[in-house]
Amino acid sequence: MSTFAEEPATILEQLRALREHDAPTHGGRVLSYVYDPGVAELDQLAADATRLMQPVNGLDPTTFGSVAALERDVIAFVRDLLHGDADVVGTVTTGGTESCLLAVKTARDAWVAAGGSGTPRLVMPATAHAAFHKAAHYFGLTLDLVPVSSEGVVAVGDLEARLGAEVALVVVSAPSYPVAALDPIAAVAELAAVRGIDVHVDACIGGLVLPFWPDLPAWDFAVPGVTSVSVDLHKYGYAPKGASVLLQRGRDRQRLQYFATTRWPGYPVVNPTILGSRSAGPLAAAWAITRALGMPGFQGLVDSTRRSTDVILDAIAAIEGLRVLGDPVGPLLAVAADPAVPAAARVDPHHWADVVRGLGFTLQLQPANGAIGSTTHLTITPVTERVLPELLAALAAGADAVRGVPHVDATALLGQLPPLTGPLDSDTAAVILAGFGIGAEGALPDALAPLLAIIEITPPALAERLLTELLARLVEPAPAG
Ligand SMILES: *Cc1c(COP(=O)(O)O)cnc(C)c1O
Repeated sequence: MSTFAEEPATILEQLRALREHDAPTHGGRVLSYVYDPGVAELDQLAADATRLMQPVNGLDPTTFGSVAALERDVIAFVRDLLHGDADVVGTVTTGGTESCLLAVKTARDAWVAAGGSGTPRLVMPATAHAAFHKAAHYFGLTLDLVPVSSEGVVAVGDLEARLGAEVALVVVSAPSYPVAALDPIAAVAELAAVRGIDVHVDACIGGLVLPFWPDLPAWDFAVPGVTSVSVDLHKYGYAPKGASVLLQRGRDRQRLQYFATTRWPGYPVVNPTILGSRSAGPLAAAWAITRALGMPGFQGLVDSTRRSTDVILDAIAAIEGLRVLGDPVGPLLAVAADPAVPAAARVDPHHWADVVRGLGFTLQLQPANGAIGSTTHLTITPVTERVLPELLAALAAGADAVRGVPHVDATALLGQLPPLTGPLDSDTAAVILAGFGIGAEGALPDALAPLLAIIEITPPALAERLLTELLARLVEPAPAG
């Protein structure tokens, strides 16, 4: 008789059944979230490396020396790639958000140590990643967003005007996620350095791509004044989720990243990152992949990605009614409606994404923000090259299907909202969501364009509350009985 309540084979069967409803992680059909090198052996290697490290606790590299050895290797690999000298040290974290959080915490503590008083400020272009909004919120900094142009470009002078004694950190991106702009890193770093202000380069998405991309200005530790850089291993390092690197210039600065305490009756706690106990699996997988690929392997995958990106840029430029925003650097881009053609020929990027999804490719809808209008985001990966003809056909056919259809006018939908007085409670939020066609189990409507239109015109605090409700209800167990 089995000791199990359920047989392992049955359990795995259920898992497979659940996975069947997910967006496909391989094959290039989802152009965000997943980074498929299209090399089955790499997936296998990552799985084997993860399995070997599965029982290890990454909390304590003195007990599990393997963790320290892997981390040293990964840091050395990324540091060399990013022109870091011996003064650049680093940490492997669990992801881009954690790397960004720690960069902000370090800069805040360095600012305080240097005599800063009052509330520290974090200055960044509005296109910098939301992880920095989270960091400012968690660590008590005032977020000072510098507006960007309709093409997603920040003016150095606008940024310079914000620099002052209360600024603990300036964040720039290489490139930014929403529009793939490579911020003016050298100019900003120079202005910050003369004022003694730290500069973080968020290369979470670009860090393992731009070193292999031709003709770029210096953006990494080659730029004096850059004090930290974040690079995600679980993006273009092709590792499973849970691995990123934060590099910092200066040992003394970086030690501020750590949290240590001996003031409790248990083991001394010394953490370079936010988590305590943590998996060493993603680190091992990332390590194995960097070993397997080496510089030539990364170069080859980036070359493939760049070929696909160029083809897609040309293809979108040739579609009447759409245009690519700004001057994207790296394998990502934002697509907007082309204002240069009459309304009847314009293609709304959100309707477009909804139709293209029906044709087999998932693009990412981005709400209008500031000067940047509604866009649709595409992240291109090495595997994209294999589905390129089919993808191009879907992009063109999708545009043909919705050309001239105007952006959703959400004012009527918003009019259904009950008058709001005071904070929204959970049940009222659920009723509002249901009114927008969002089911109790978080089932989203087939078309996302109306949902994005609502987000675009709803006051952010209300939209954030509603989306919180949506996600929270998603994991609520059904009532018992
Ligand atoms: C992905 C990303 C992040 C956040 O990383 P996560 O791994 O999703 O936590 C931060 N900055 C940029 C530019 C990114 O692309």
